[in-house]
Amino acid sequence: MKRVKKSPFIFLTLVGCCFTNLLWAQEEYKDPKNKKGTEVFEGGASYQVKHYPQKTFSKTPKNIILMIGDGMGLAQIFSGMTANGGHLFLENFKNIGFSKTASASNYTTDSAAGATALSTGVKTFNGAIGVDNQKQPLSHILEKAIKKGLKTGLVATSSITHATPGAFIAHVDSRKSFEDIALDFLKTDIDVFIGGGRKYFETRKEGRNLIMEFQNKGYQIAYNLESIRNTTSGKLVGLTAADHNPPMPERGEFLEIATESALHLLNQSKKGFFLMVEGSQIDFSAHKNDTPGVVLEMLDFDKAIGTALAFAAKNQETLIIVTADHETGGMTLLNGDFTTGKVEAKYTTGGHTGIAVPIFAYGPGAAEFCGFMENTDIAKKMMQLLSLEQKP
Ligand SMILES: [Zn+2]
Repeated sequence: MKRVKKSPFIFLTLVGCCFTNLLWAQEEYKDPKNKKGTEVFEGGASYQVKHYPQKTFSKTPKNIILMIGDGMGLAQIFSGMTANGGHLFLENFKNIGFSKTASASNYTTDSAAGATALSTGVKTFNGAIGVDNQKQPLSHILEKAIKKGLKTGLVATSSITHATPGAFIAHVDSRKSFEDIALDFLKTDIDVFIGGGRKYFETRKEGRNLIMEFQNKGYQIAYNLESIRNTTSGKLVGLTAADHNPPMPERGEFLEIATESALHLLNQSKKGFFLMVEGSQIDFSAHKNDTPGVVLEMLDFDKAIGTALAFAAKNQETLIIVTADHETGGMTLLNGDFTTGKVEAKYTTGGHTGIAVPIFAYGPGAAEFCGFMENTDIAKKMMQLLSLEQKP
């Protein structure tokens, strides 16, 4: 009899819990649960790091490569550095600062508001993709660069319609509107984008096939790394997975090859280019509190940084900025071994944290990115350095 009396209460409690969980699922940044993934990385992944001394550059860059490690705080960086025998390509960067990542709505940002700040110079609410607090479209650096005749590109290991790359090209109220984000790609003259997310372009609710529409606009379409690599001129849509690309190590050299291919296509511009490259899945692994995942994703991202450095050191008119949208996992390192590459990490959350994240800059204009600044300052400085007019 007691159980019968209690059941409505239990039912309501269950409904309440489910509802709360649903809310958390939609706003991943504040998931407070520890996911209890594998906290130790045993080592065994290392590569040679080259040195690219920063020579005397011109004062302002012709090209900018913005590289975003999603969820990449100092612990994520140092876990990779430890695993790789104490060195990363990141060490080539001598101009270092910190980005304050809070959004307009929260101390702890999500990737949508974080990327919108980095792409437009405006803080907005969590979940917003290229729109302000009043849900009005903001002008991003990519659109400004296109208007000025620069070539532009986006590369991500996630779906290309995911929050970070999406916030560099689209204007939607919700990061979950993947098909709307895909449609916004078609409305621009972007030269190259490479990532996952093919289904949002091809099998859409309203029945349009955006891939065919891109083809009609003169884009070449590539569904695997080999055909991405073989595209050496013109405009390119590279979609290598239905949704996100697989995690490391299954993904192989995707990010290095995609970065190199994009740079090759964009460098054919007389007026310069803007390229954003995202190591999307450092965040995914950190959400799971999965140290081997964090390390492998971090090293993958660092190798792409090495690819960008090789280009910039030769080109000498290119500014590279490496930063994060926020930290994920509240990760810290309790022990490690530079000889074996072993990393022992602990996590304080399954969500994001509000702590400032590092900024690394290399090339003409790099000195602008030293010291503490707002995430929005990074966008403003990039726009100034490329002489892109800014809306007041
Ligand atoms: Zn996240």
